[in-house]
Amino acid sequence: MSVAIDQFMSYVKGRNPGENEFHQAVEEVVESIYSVIETSPRYRSGKILERIVEPERVVIFRVPWMDDDGEVRVNRGYLVEMNSALGPFKSGLRFHPSVNLGILKFLAFEQTFKNSLTTLPMGGGKGGSDFDPKGKSDAEVMRFCQSFMAELYRHVGPNTDVLGGDIGVGGREIGFLFGMYKKLANEFTGMITGKGFNWGGSLIRPESTGYGVVYFASEMLATRKESLAGKRVLISGSGNVAQFAVEKLHEYGATVVTLSDSGGTIVDEDGIDRDKLDYVMDLKNNRRGRIREYVQQYPQARFLENARPWMVPGEVALPCATENEINEDEAQSLLDNGCICVAEGANMPCEPAAVERFLNAEILYGPGKAANAGGVAVSGLEMTQNSMRLSWTQQEVDKRLKMIMREIHSTCVKYGSHDGFINYLDGANVAGFIKVADAMLDQGLV
Ligand code: NDP
Repeated sequence: MSVAIDQFMSYVKGRNPGENEFHQAVEEVVESIYSVIETSPRYRSGKILERIVEPERVVIFRVPWMDDDGEVRVNRGYLVEMNSALGPFKSGLRFHPSVNLGILKFLAFEQTFKNSLTTLPMGGGKGGSDFDPKGKSDAEVMRFCQSFMAELYRHVGPNTDVLGGDIGVGGREIGFLFGMYKKLANEFTGMITGKGFNWGGSLIRPESTGYGVVYFASEMLATRKESLAGKRVLISGSGNVAQFAVEKLHEYGATVVTLSDSGGTIVDEDGIDRDKLDYVMDLKNNRRGRIREYVQQYPQARFLENARPWMVPGEVALPCATENEINEDEAQSLLDNGCICVAEGANMPCEPAAVERFLNAEILYGPGKAANAGGVAVSGLEMTQNSMRLSWTQQEVDKRLKMIMREIHSTCVKYGSHDGFINYLDGANVAGFIKVADAMLDQGLV
């Protein structure tokens, strides 16, 4: 089987040269699903594997804009529409200098299986730009978003491709993007999620990814008669996902001891309580500051310059920053320090060798496509509310989120249990894949 996987990966690498993150994401899925492919003549004769790694459409475009000094700037915009077998594409947008085609293809590929797991009718896509909102004024961000949407509006809409947020795209950017779409398309529709609450957004959408990761971690721990209460938790990142994971962990009685950004990690042995979280939210969301400033406010905490949190002891780890942020050595350090549960808030935050360590050690390892699916699930609920032209209460949305996370967990258990061990990675990949593959076969060669 491994020869067949190697051959398939050579084919993927040959067709998509230099796109390392995309190769990594494909290999991880193919390793889980190959036995399913081998036993299904329909999948093999339908060339499902070759088709599923080929985006349905990719758009690359120029985004010119003017900065506050009157200087012309040029960025590159992308939209990767990977798979619409289950519903309209759902393309979260990432604005970060590291954005390139390979990263967006990996994210769109992951999104296809993640959306399948949510049970909601959404296809997989991703878009974005190498534009960096950090250090830009609101007016510059607005001009960039307007120029970006001047091209993108032709390709998206509530029944074709529904946009959303990701790294660097929060409430401010969503507002500017929606405003420009509305002007160009001359219609007020749900073509983007994460909207403001008074103009079509869903309650709980900002909280949903962070809350969902905690719900998922709690379900995983329960399979071993464990809970989050009293656990020391390590979190990376300090953006949207990280902040609301901390908030929900308070309810479960856990103690969060780390947060980070691209400048380093803060370690607070006393725990990041509600007041400290409010400080971080204000620092990151309003003042757009750096996490190092935390130790000026709370001098008992330590700042580890350019370091990630994984060498700090903790029983639960929630990587919530970015891809490939836990390497093999860091995984081993987590295991040596007594970590029993890793749930991925970010997409593909663990390098393959790190995942292997976790699986070999048989700890609880929840891959992003299952553990962080709460965000897109509530985006799906926002789309439903927009179509029905009504808004559900906070309790209603949170109840549905919790139920969806519980169902995703059960699906992983159903497809990933071997000899008393739950391999959530196999469970998520196999379950996500079968639904998409069957829909593709039903719909013929399109
Ligand atoms: P934000 O932009 O709100 O926050 C990102 C955080 O990660 C910041 O603290 C940022 O630090 C840090 N970070 C980003 N890139 C790097 C890097 N290269 N090295 C170190 N730190 C980095 O993004 P989100 O919280 O929305 O997203 C975080 C992760 O969660 C991403 O992987 C995203 O794809 C995933 N995700 C998000 C969902 C959502 O609903 N928002 C849904 C599902 C997954 P700095 O400010 O220094 O850049």
